[in-house]
Amino acid sequence: MNALLVHPPIADSFLGHQHALTFINKRAVSPPLGLLTVAALLPPEWNARLVDMNVQPLTDADLAWADCACISAACTQRDVARTLIARCRHAGLVIIAGGPLFTMEPEDFPEVDHLLLHEAETTVPLLLSDLARGTPRRMYRPEGFADMTRSPAPAWRLARLSSYALAAIQFSRGCPYGCEFCNMPFLLGRTLRRKTVPQIIAELDALWAAGWREQIFVVDDNLNLDARFLKQELLPALIRWQRHPARAWCNVPFYAQACITLADDDELMGMMVRAGFTQLFIGIETTDEAALAAAGKTPNRGRDLAGDVRRIQRAGMIVHAGMIVGFDTDTPAVFERHASFIRDTNTVLAKVSILQAPRHTPLYGRLEREGRIASPHPRDNTYGDTNIMPRMGLRALQSHYRDFQETLFSPGEYYGRLRSFVRASGVPRAGMRPSMSRLRGLCMVVWRLGIRAPSRGLFWRMVAAAARKPRLLPWALMLAAQCHHHHLFWAGLRRTTSQRAEGAAA
Ligand code: SF4
Repeated sequence: MNALLVHPPIADSFLGHQHALTFINKRAVSPPLGLLTVAALLPPEWNARLVDMNVQPLTDADLAWADCACISAACTQRDVARTLIARCRHAGLVIIAGGPLFTMEPEDFPEVDHLLLHEAETTVPLLLSDLARGTPRRMYRPEGFADMTRSPAPAWRLARLSSYALAAIQFSRGCPYGCEFCNMPFLLGRTLRRKTVPQIIAELDALWAAGWREQIFVVDDNLNLDARFLKQELLPALIRWQRHPARAWCNVPFYAQACITLADDDELMGMMVRAGFTQLFIGIETTDEAALAAAGKTPNRGRDLAGDVRRIQRAGMIVHAGMIVGFDTDTPAVFERHASFIRDTNTVLAKVSILQAPRHTPLYGRLEREGRIASPHPRDNTYGDTNIMPRMGLRALQSHYRDFQETLFSPGEYYGRLRSFVRASGVPRAGMRPSMSRLRGLCMVVWRLGIRAPSRGLFWRMVAAAARKPRLLPWALMLAAQCHHHHLFWAGLRRTTSQRAEGAAA
């Protein structure tokens, strides 16, 4: 059996980092970890081929080679997934689909032959044994969640690793919190499950053996749920792994998602820095206590969130803040509150989104009862869209949102944040390993931001500030390239919207 594992394209968006990727000659942020895990679950007599449409085209020859297509997609890839399914069906392939999109909305894809909901580790073996018996079912919805200690290492050999900015790895799944807007408890359960330390080290060794020397993104939703395990087992092993002579002079940097409660534990933060953790994405959501309480974001309540972010930065990790607008208690003043928080904490990159209600979340249930669901599916909030009817009014919310994003990523604002950040922040321990592609990236940054851009004066002021902490400088340049991406994205969106409005008026 020839299995074509296909990841649909991700639209140009402020999250796709398309403009920033051009600096380092990469095509996508990270490889499709779910499909690589599916590949590792297939029996040896199956032939697997990965086509990530973000780094290579899906050709007719690929379709002619395959017997079946295994498609995995996130909810934001709904439309392109539909087009892809139609193409595979036209080519006569059996279609197997899984991942968040199909787990959240299985009834919307009648054209899929076999739907694998939730985790591949539980559903792929069931499908394989049913196929062997000649009695495959249309839908596989497991009762429980997978035992991650039996999860295979992703089949890295199938991915064109050099096309990605980050590799990806997963240590654990499941989150015990029940934030009203979050679909993770539905997708992955509320009990923390994790791989063993030897499993994790073996995966890192496999990535290293495959030639990977760049940043590794730990995709876990909440890395620091079990501080005891981190401090006593995982982090000591990672610190030992980094001490290998080939890595000791320049540790491999890790990027993870963590909970703000990390700021309470100096020992844990220190060990994370020594293990190579360099960037953290932290869900701040909002600074409004009433909104945090209503959303059930319990770990963030009653805290000095700005002080917490500054403590983590001083420890030597770069914090990217996730924030939301559109909670029921929000008025237009939320935008100024968010802007103050971002400025006061020197958070260079903040991902601010409009609240959405994915299906199977408590928020969806509540808003449905209140008659405030505008569409069953979350919309592409790249353009400030949402599937809920916000109390602030959709038009007002969207208009404030776009103005807010444009201001946040105007060069004066982001270079100001970058300068404050390099002055106040600790220095990450893991560095960026010199390479030809890094050198090329550096030349591109200097050429485009330091010579050609109208904001070049601000760029060189930032470089002068960062030069006092030379180990921080490469990270500051990386952040500048990412802010430049956001600036181009929002400016481009403004142009497109104005042109559309002019076209409609004419
Ligand atoms: S938002 Fe974060 S803390 Fe809340 S349920 Fe989701 S993963 Fe857990």
